[in-house]
Amino acid sequence: MHNKTITELAKGLRAKEYSSVELTQAYLDRIKKYQDLNCYITVAEENALEQAKLADSQLASADSALLTGIPIAQKDIFCTQGIKTSCGSKMLDNFIAPYNATVIEKFNADNAVMLGKLNMDEFAMGSSNETSFYGAVQNPWDTDTVPGGSSGGSASAIAARLTVAATGTDTGGSIRQPASLCGITGLKPTYGRVSRFGMIAFASSLDQGGPMARSAEDAAILMQTMAGFDTKDSTSVDRAVPDYSAGLNNSLEGLKIGLPKEFFSQDLNNDIASAIESAINEYKKLGAEVKEVSLPNMKLAIPAYYVIASAECSANLSRYDGVRFGHRCHSPADLNDLYTRSRGEAFGAEVKRRILMGTYALSAGYYDAYYIKAQKVRCLISEDFSRALSEVDVLMGPVSPSTAFDIGEKTDDPIEMYLADIYTIAINLAGLPAMSLPSGFADSKPVGLQVIGNYFSEDRLLNIAHQYQQVTDWHQQTPKGFE
Ligand code: GLN
Repeated sequence: MHNKTITELAKGLRAKEYSSVELTQAYLDRIKKYQDLNCYITVAEENALEQAKLADSQLASADSALLTGIPIAQKDIFCTQGIKTSCGSKMLDNFIAPYNATVIEKFNADNAVMLGKLNMDEFAMGSSNETSFYGAVQNPWDTDTVPGGSSGGSASAIAARLTVAATGTDTGGSIRQPASLCGITGLKPTYGRVSRFGMIAFASSLDQGGPMARSAEDAAILMQTMAGFDTKDSTSVDRAVPDYSAGLNNSLEGLKIGLPKEFFSQDLNNDIASAIESAINEYKKLGAEVKEVSLPNMKLAIPAYYVIASAECSANLSRYDGVRFGHRCHSPADLNDLYTRSRGEAFGAEVKRRILMGTYALSAGYYDAYYIKAQKVRCLISEDFSRALSEVDVLMGPVSPSTAFDIGEKTDDPIEMYLADIYTIAINLAGLPAMSLPSGFADSKPVGLQVIGNYFSEDRLLNIAHQYQQVTDWHQQTPKGFE
């Protein structure tokens, strides 16, 4: 059962080949069997079986949603009423959200089953899932390596078949990079397409939730549920949601692909470059035309991002003060002691580093030199993309400069870690949608192809991804031992 797609499972459920309770139990058993991967922070066993039971009673009705009774899992950044929401941090280790994120409400309305909450880098800061208070996650393709981050639990769980699909969030690459390192499909939607209400904030002008799944076909089904305007999120966009599955089979004849020359510099590992080239050749066979384009300000993306994201996180994380919710230190001497010890005890090193950098960048005297400068760079980067996307339909390139690296390999060198997102971060600064597609292996580890589209072109991106997955089977490969 664990190798079936959502559409196949939905059919099987309706044909009564298995019940949602049986399907859910099978996944819960696998989660237990492979718990060494450390994908889940919370397994919501009781809740999942209850939801499955309810779903079984709904399946008979003709208008039941496609996701009814399908077991999925949520990144532990989405607030879930009555179930711990930790955001990968000791700060929220005791936090039971009093309400559901909009995304969770939407999956509940479809009667999807939530298996549990997935591991992640602390407050989504990281590229390897090693900053989690709950420990590193293993990549099922090679358990000595990282799954990427910050949605590392989501990517690893999907690759190991410990959930059918999952949510992720992407502030600088956190859906696409782990998808790439674990050989699964991930979509980072246009900023504002998916509600951020109840999705714990890291850098509010960049954060965006999206689907992670084995195939584009499954990602389209999740996206259908996740997307849409939300009055509770002032940055969500009031715009009709298209049918994401309707155009999956559209022809790619005449598709114009731009290859940004900055994505293919000497820094790119040869094996990754050749996997990307083969993927682009497949697209040519499907009728696409290819042209070189340029994004001259790409090299400024990482420094601009680390000023903006850190500045925003320093403001967002000021709410964790030991007073209202989250960790509180024992017997504080006074209010200052309460603040400093509560925060000092409960935030990890990376989160502290970002808060310090962000507070510095926002302080009087440095604000213009760092924050305003970074915002100007952000405009230049957006303009680069607008220019390139006026010449072509989509851009393609690698997702990550390397395949999965060893656990511990980059933990002592934050700059090295930050460079893991060199090909993904600029897309968040511009607010564009982009996907990561499994497109081969380098040294037996998965390689992802990145496809970047214009604003609100998620339906076209899914179509482009699905057509590739009709002529290749990279997305169907299973790591050894997890078949
Ligand atoms: N790796 C990047 C960071 O550490 C991006 C994280 C993300 O997208 N949430 O900030």
